[in-house]
Amino acid sequence: MKQKKELILPIATFLVVGIILSGLYIIVSKQAATQNRERYRYIAASQSNMIRDCIDTVLARAYTLGALVFDNDGSTAFFDRQAERIYQETKNDTGISLKNIAIAPDGVVEKVYPASGNEALTGFNFMDASKPGNAEAIAAYQRGSLIITNPFDLVQGGTGLAGRLPVFLPADGEKEAFWGLVTVTMDFHELIDTINLRKLSNMGINYELWYKNDNGERTSMAASERMPIDPVSYEFSIDNLTWYLDVSPADGWIDYEETAVVFCVIFAVALLIALLLLNRGQIKKANEKLQRLAHLDSLTSCYSRHYVNTILLNQRNGSWNDPDSRYSLAIIDIDNFKNINDSYGHDTGDRAIIAIAQVLEDNSKHANGDCVIRHGGDEFVLLFNDVTNERFISKLASIVADVRKIRFPDMPDMRLSVSIGGEYYSDPETSLYYNMIRRADEKLYQAKKNGKDQYVL
Ligand code: GH3
Ligand code: MG
Repeated sequence: MKQKKELILPIATFLVVGIILSGLYIIVSKQAATQNRERYRYIAASQSNMIRDCIDTVLARAYTLGALVFDNDGSTAFFDRQAERIYQETKNDTGISLKNIAIAPDGVVEKVYPASGNEALTGFNFMDASKPGNAEAIAAYQRGSLIITNPFDLVQGGTGLAGRLPVFLPADGEKEAFWGLVTVTMDFHELIDTINLRKLSNMGINYELWYKNDNGERTSMAASERMPIDPVSYEFSIDNLTWYLDVSPADGWIDYEETAVVFCVIFAVALLIALLLLNRGQIKKANEKLQRLAHLDSLTSCYSRHYVNTILLNQRNGSWNDPDSRYSLAIIDIDNFKNINDSYGHDTGDRAIIAIAQVLEDNSKHANGDCVIRHGGDEFVLLFNDVTNERFISKLASIVADVRKIRFPDMPDMRLSVSIGGEYYSDPETSLYYNMIRRADEKLYQAKKNGKDQYVL
């Protein structure tokens, strides 16, 4: 039970330290996670800006084409001279080879550059709503401004991303009339290669570039081998388009290895503190034991007179330190002990003292604060705490009787006896230690005088 009590503080400390440190770690790692997500947001933003800049730069060629149509009053003759220059300029500026540049008066493709590979496009009617992929061209015409398509399958093969710009020419004075479309198409995969989106994978980042189609469904355009999990989703716009770039760490947001190490350290620290406390308790116990030993008589292991003077008594006024104590007291002196020493030797005398001390121990009750003291030479003091008069008397009687019964097999004829002066507790005033000792001593003297081997009360 006592041992269990000693464990409570170390165990409680272990739990409290463990919980506090874990809590702190969780708070700190939550903050770190927020910062980490911010960092990923920044990465996604800078990639998205690169995508937007690249598309903007490429599709701005549509405006160049539109301006040329306008300057030439709708004549397409310039195209043969300028298309190649626009194509080369784009390549020099961005590194992207355009899929094609085309002009379509009334929406029907008249000229395409480069011609090779784009044969299928000549004569294509962008205004034919029944053809797939023409919705953006019709929308551009209706809106009167540039429309960029989401990636789509090209008639001539591959995946393209196109800018369709409607051109209006002045007609009938102020009013403008629809002339047709100019269109610039780039290879979507070349775009991804140019901005090197794949390098995110090498940086340990999973990604997905996607948009919502007309039905609101998520449509993936490019992604790492493994899809991002619980990603930071960065939304960005390029003219009419809204795209999303999702990113997340390939190893997940939680570094399980680090977490495991931190929790191991927390466990070790809490355990260390608990063990130190446990050890401190044990050191305290050992100290108490040492202190007790310092107060014990070396021959009998009973308390020494020093114990009474320093621990039980208030040294200033001789009152008991424990105000609740109600000690009855007896002085026990061995009868004719000088003779024992003389007849059987000093060592046997020592054995006799030890045997009598044992009788006294056997007749007292430590749990109640009873206490056997070797007062000196062959004299003991016995303190009975809170004992009834009957019990006090019966104890003294049984001590006298028990000592009488002591036998040493090697000294079969040796007999021992004690005389006792007993002083029963009466009240706090008259029960001061030195008063009681004095009165008990007088009774001991009486017992000796009466013939020894007896108690006097
Ligand atoms: P009485 O019946 O009147 O008490 O006679 P007594 O012979 O016992 O006389 P007293 O109590 O005065 O003598 C005590 C003797 O005990 C004196 C001393 O030699 C002896 N003694 C004291 N301490 C020790 C001890 O540690 N070991 C042994 N063997 N003898 C001791
Ligand atoms: Mg004696």
